[in-house]
Amino acid sequence: MKAQQALYIDGVWCPAEGRDTIDVVNPVDEQVIGQVPAGNAEDVDHAVRAARAAFPAWAAAPPAERAARLAALRDVLLARKDEIAGTITAELGSPLAFSQAVHMGTPIAVAGSYAELAATYAFEEKVGNSTVYHEPIGVVGAITPWNYPLHQIVAKVAPALAAGCTVVLKPAEDTPLTAQAFAEAVHEAGVPAGVLNLVTGLGPVAGQALAGHPDVDLVSFTGSTAVGSRIAATAGAAVKKVALELGGKSANVILPSADLAPAVNVGVANVMSNSGQTCSAWTRMLVHTAQYDAAVELAAAAAAKYGDRIGPVVNARQRDRVRGYIEKGLAEGARLVAGGVEPPRERGYFISPTVLADVTPEMTVAQEEIFGPVLSILRYGDEEDALRIANGTVYGLAGAVWAGDEAEAVAFARRMETGQVDINGGRFNPLAPFGGYKQSGVGRELGVYGLAEYLQTKSLQF
Ligand code: NAD
Repeated sequence: MKAQQALYIDGVWCPAEGRDTIDVVNPVDEQVIGQVPAGNAEDVDHAVRAARAAFPAWAAAPPAERAARLAALRDVLLARKDEIAGTITAELGSPLAFSQAVHMGTPIAVAGSYAELAATYAFEEKVGNSTVYHEPIGVVGAITPWNYPLHQIVAKVAPALAAGCTVVLKPAEDTPLTAQAFAEAVHEAGVPAGVLNLVTGLGPVAGQALAGHPDVDLVSFTGSTAVGSRIAATAGAAVKKVALELGGKSANVILPSADLAPAVNVGVANVMSNSGQTCSAWTRMLVHTAQYDAAVELAAAAAAKYGDRIGPVVNARQRDRVRGYIEKGLAEGARLVAGGVEPPRERGYFISPTVLADVTPEMTVAQEEIFGPVLSILRYGDEEDALRIANGTVYGLAGAVWAGDEAEAVAFARRMETGQVDINGGRFNPLAPFGGYKQSGVGRELGVYGLAEYLQTKSLQF
């Protein structure tokens, strides 16, 4: 895809006020593949004014009309699936087959789910002598990360549009071309001018201006806990709503009754997928002492099979950060059983799939989010010990439990302080609520739960 040298505001591509540009780099070969404008506070203001002007008509549009636009958006994404997958591969580095199946497959399903929900959701209901209306909150500032560049955008924009909100989107610096392709798709789908506006730019400039803009009614942010907490503080001071999807350090708990090999193999695949850049990845594997050595051996063999086929991490800073964590893990007493800091290729931001054994709960690699292909394996004595370790971080985004008996796994999962748990390898469900307990965030995305974030209630009494 050819980079647009412009911002998408009020239905047209227009030059940015800001003169700076952002280089887009292919993480596989470190070559610059394009440049996009770095929008500034004036650009953000321009986009927010467009979103505000478009809001009354879009909010008043019949839900069936909003549903039709979202269905058209899904169809455009489907028609451009291979081409946009190629763009994602070029700027994120993920293998093309993964980009097609996951980076495109998931947002197409999510866009479709919101086309359906917009048409069927009860935006008006009777409660005793009252009529309750679920009305759009207003102008949404959406700030997204690079790890699932299209999914993160669609998980915010689709429910916001279904609700009747208008949006200003500030995508991640590393993956702006995917965001531009998305804006083109929105245009092609016939969404009215000003309903979706795109300002590419730097987080501390364009992102901060958007989060602090007085005419933005809700800030929906996905990214690091550090930035999320700053955004929440700014929004709180202005009594503005926020939805935050933040970090994770999820536990994959293998109970003694589980079938060990699938639990370990699926667990390793979960962490290595997308080169470990998945906020809900099960980066801590918890194994009973009696099965520990066998699990470590299986995990090391599974990780070694991936080689460099998982793709690089997104940029040099991320590569150095991940290497730093591996070094810190080893310095604190972890044992390297696969991978390590040696780069598997001369060029590109590659990290070998890495497995650290003998990790203990207080180690940095067991507490902090690494966001790279690094699995830590921890040992537990009994179920209470496993629960204490699983719940023993500031995060609570996701997790997994494996047991011979489903009811046993469910009983354990119910005691985990986390937003979603896969039982014995349960599949991803685009309608299930996604979001975290504790410092993993505020609010939920996907399905009706995601839609509700963009609505506020009004009740009339009779
Ligand atoms: P990040 O927080 O640095 O950036 C995320 C977005 O925020 C980007 O668009 C960035 O430009 C913007 N931003 C940066 N500084 C800002 C500021 N001061 N004001 C406003 N916006 C600002 O995170 P990242 O490095 O891009 O992504 C990795 C992190 O995101 C990881 O910690 C990961 O766990 C988290 N994440 C969470 C989820 C989830 O759903 N919970 C999903 C994906 C990523």
